[in-house]
Amino acid sequence: MANENYEAVLAQADELADRTIDFRRRLHRRPEIGLQLPITQEAIRTEIGDLGLDVRTGSSTTSVVAVLDGASDGPTVLLRGDMDALPLTEHTGLDFASEIDGVMHACGHDTHVAMLAGAARLLADRRADIAGRVVFMFQPGEEGFHGARYMLEEGLLEATGQRPTGAFALHISSSFVSGTINTRPGALLASSDTIRITVQGRGGHASAPHYANDPIPVACEIVIALQTMVTRRIDIFDPAVVTIAHLSAGTTNNVIPATAVLEGTIRTLSAETRTSVHDLVRQVARGIASAHGMQVEVEIEGGYPVTVNDGDFASSVHAVAGQLLGADRACIMESPIMGAEDWSYVLQEVPGAMAFLGACPPDLEPETAPGNHSNLVVFDETALSTGVATYAAVALETLAR
Ligand SMILES: [Zn+2]
Ligand SMILES: [Zn+2]
Repeated sequence: MANENYEAVLAQADELADRTIDFRRRLHRRPEIGLQLPITQEAIRTEIGDLGLDVRTGSSTTSVVAVLDGASDGPTVLLRGDMDALPLTEHTGLDFASEIDGVMHACGHDTHVAMLAGAARLLADRRADIAGRVVFMFQPGEEGFHGARYMLEEGLLEATGQRPTGAFALHISSSFVSGTINTRPGALLASSDTIRITVQGRGGHASAPHYANDPIPVACEIVIALQTMVTRRIDIFDPAVVTIAHLSAGTTNNVIPATAVLEGTIRTLSAETRTSVHDLVRQVARGIASAHGMQVEVEIEGGYPVTVNDGDFASSVHAVAGQLLGADRACIMESPIMGAEDWSYVLQEVPGAMAFLGACPPDLEPETAPGNHSNLVVFDETALSTGVATYAAVALETLAR
């Protein structure tokens, strides 16, 4: 794409800034959780209703898939914005704060919807110059509900009759300098699985443990052994995190309980290590329980896979951001983040990437600003036009390749 084209895209996004911010604030006031987000879906349909897109809605979820048909034939590119909020009560004091008690757009998905709608408007304006098609994926249920997987099952990748040659998603973050685009080739985010271990002992009087079989010390031993397992059995350059975050046993000070339950999370950065950790958690828990004459039940519930950016696509996003915003605002991240994303399901099918859009408020520091998922998180709205321009420029560059 020529330099003057990048400048034009930025100028268009700036012209749309007020509209983008206004739409974001309306979504922010009315957050919804999960896979069924009827108010958000209706707001999206209204916002993009005048753009001449082919708009389809999901059957198992309230997703919206909108297709922009360019003036001439060419490849398909997919852009995604997730739509859902989180179950927490907002304490930001913003004048457009959530009006729904106990629900807040604390992960910034309201900004994703607004930026994607802005990019749709910007690109629809340029339809005459577009060879190919752009699929806008408005996705419910990112926060643990596997919304992207439902959309794939409903034929997301066949929306134009031609599989996308590239797929791109932005995620806003208050932990990066406002207006920067941050990405990396390879693993960007971790896999996330849930562990539940039930140690089955035998209850009794706390004064006579030899007549019982106390599951509490065994549960504690398993917690420590899992940490030893991570440092001794897992390649430090293909890391894992195993955290037992919840331990529960017993009712009072003088009764040995019959069971102890441990719950936690497993994070990894490769499918291979993910499988190894699952096997090792089972092996360690069973081995320790067995050494003390106890049974153990290990349940591992698979969450999102590792989010792996395609190397070439991530480099292209980085290059586009550099052209669009200047080299100092296009950053390669030194390391992945151990959070997880269901965008990973799309990246298993299509070469693509996710990038973080920095939106730390100018009066705060990225290291200490309340982060995504905090009830105090605030995003700098001046970054939204950067996001709109980046979505659009990545789409145009991918179609031109
Ligand atoms: Zn989130
Ligand atoms: Zn998120």
